[in-house]
Amino acid sequence: MKKVFFRALLTAALFSACSVCAASEEEVFALNRQRMVKEQIERRGITDKRVLDAMRKVKRHLFVPAHLHNAAYEDRPLPIGYGQTISQPYIVAYMTQAARIGQNDRILEIGTGSGYQAVVLAEIAKEVYTIEILQPLADSARLRLGEMGYKNIKVKPGDGYKGWREYAPFDAIIVTAAPSEIPEELASQLKIGGRMVVPIGSFYQELYLITRAESGFKKEALLPVVFVPMVRPSSIQPDAN
Ligand code: SAH
Repeated sequence: MKKVFFRALLTAALFSACSVCAASEEEVFALNRQRMVKEQIERRGITDKRVLDAMRKVKRHLFVPAHLHNAAYEDRPLPIGYGQTISQPYIVAYMTQAARIGQNDRILEIGTGSGYQAVVLAEIAKEVYTIEILQPLADSARLRLGEMGYKNIKVKPGDGYKGWREYAPFDAIIVTAAPSEIPEELASQLKIGGRMVVPIGSFYQELYLITRAESGFKKEALLPVVFVPMVRPSSIQPDAN
C-alpha cells in the first residue's frame, strides 16, 4: 500500500517537475513500460528475451486513444473504439512467446485492432501480415504503423477466416479474436511445423496452441482467456462505433 502511494507520488512529482521539459511525459511512459515488463510479464514467467525486449521497446500508449495514455501500462485490456480492445500486455507477451517466433519467420495475425500486437511481432519476425475486419480500424492501424516506419507489416481490411493465401504458408498465426472452433482455412495456411495460437470458445474461452505436423495437427490447451468474438462479415453493422 505504502509502495503504491509512493509510486503515485513519484509519478505526480515527475510530471509536475518536468512540466517545462519536453521529454517529461515520454520519460514517465518509459519508466512505466519497464515496470510493466518486470512486474506483469517477467514476474508471471515470460522468459523469451526477444519477447521481453520487444515489450520494453514498443510504446503501448501510442496505440490507445489519447485520454487513455496514462493507463497504457496498466495490467488490463483497454478500449480502442468500435467495441474492440487492445489486449492486456501479459497476454500479448504470452501469445508471442507461445508461437515460438524466429527472426526469419513470416507471421499472420488475425484482428489487427490498434496494431500493437502486430508491432510486437514485427520487432521479432521478418514479415507480419495482419487482417482486420473493421475498415476504420484497419485504416487507422495502417496509418499508425506507416507513420512509425514499420516496413515489414502489411495490413489488409477483410475477413480473417479466409487467411491470406497470397502469402501463405506461415510459420505462425496469432488470432486475437475468439472463433467458436479452430478455423480450418487458417490451420491449412500453416507450414509443416507451423504454430497457431488461438482463443477458442464463445462465453468460456481457452487459448490453444495448434501445431501442424507432417500429417494432422497437435492441439494443446494453454490457459483460460477473454477475447472479443471473431465475427463473420455478415454480422457487422456498418455504422457501429
Ligand atoms: N490485436 C489487437 C487487438 C485485437 S481486438 C491489438 O493489438 O490491438 C480483436 C480484433 O479482431 C478487433 O479489432 C476485431 O474487429 C477483429 N476481428 C474480429 N473478427 C474478425 C475477423 N473475422 N477477421 C479479422 N478481424 C476480426
